Amino acid sequence: MKRVFLILALSVLCMSAADAQLRIGGRKIDTGKAVKAVGDMATAVTLSDDDIARLCRESVEWLDAHNPVDTGEYDARLKRLTEGITDAEGLPLNFKVYYVTDINAFACGDGSIRVFSSLMDIMTDDELMAIIGHEIGHIVHHDSKDAIKRAYMASAARNAAGAVGGTVGKLTESQLGDLAQAFMGAQFSQKQEYAADDYGFEFCVAHGFSPYGMADGLNRLVELSNGDKAPKLQQMFSSHPDSEKRAQRMKQKAEAYEAGNR
Ligand SMILES: [Zn+2]
Repeated sequence: MKRVFLILALSVLCMSAADAQLRIGGRKIDTGKAVKAVGDMATAVTLSDDDIARLCRESVEWLDAHNPVDTGEYDARLKRLTEGITDAEGLPLNFKVYYVTDINAFACGDGSIRVFSSLMDIMTDDELMAIIGHEIGHIVHHDSKDAIKRAYMASAARNAAGAVGGTVGKLTESQLGDLAQAFMGAQFSQKQEYAADDYGFEFCVAHGFSPYGMADGLNRLVELSNGDKAPKLQQMFSSHPDSEKRAQRMKQKAEAYEAGNR
């Protein structure tokens, strides 16, 4: 029997406030709500690019260890579809399937792509590859790294880091669980989602999948959010803004592409 995707219960992050900024790894990030979340106790914590890479890797390792990783048919299908797709602009990619009832896929900044078997159940190869391309887009555009930074800054682990002089220490099991949960609840802006859709479209075309994969995949999610499987649709999808509008935009892009190739 399929298990439910495991994450620890934790309050959902809000990451839209813009009243505080920190400069991390040479880029400004918005920590408004995060700073409030940990309160006045928090001292400045600097995350290097290496720290961020480690947080990504450890979060994914935690999720892999706590969810059933498929080694059967789903894994075989994903391997067949992603054969030869080994990196995204130089960053090595690795793919795994979680055999779970929830419907989701996500990417982490270390190049890890995780696809849930229940998403594979409802999508054609073209749609699935578009969604995977969309997730890879979030990696390439640094959205995933920014999300884990924000998740870390809002986590209890950050308080611990502040207490030991501003360095990122080894995270405990429960801190990693909290971080993974916060990362999974990350919300991207409309601009980030549009850019990831564009990437998903180009990804499909570049790897020989249908140019309509992105539009159809988004429409599938719209259908789903209106149906009885809606509760299984995890936050990362249900929070994607304007899915219908995005699907329409991708359909126009596919039509323009086809017209140009006639
Ligand atoms: Zn997205």
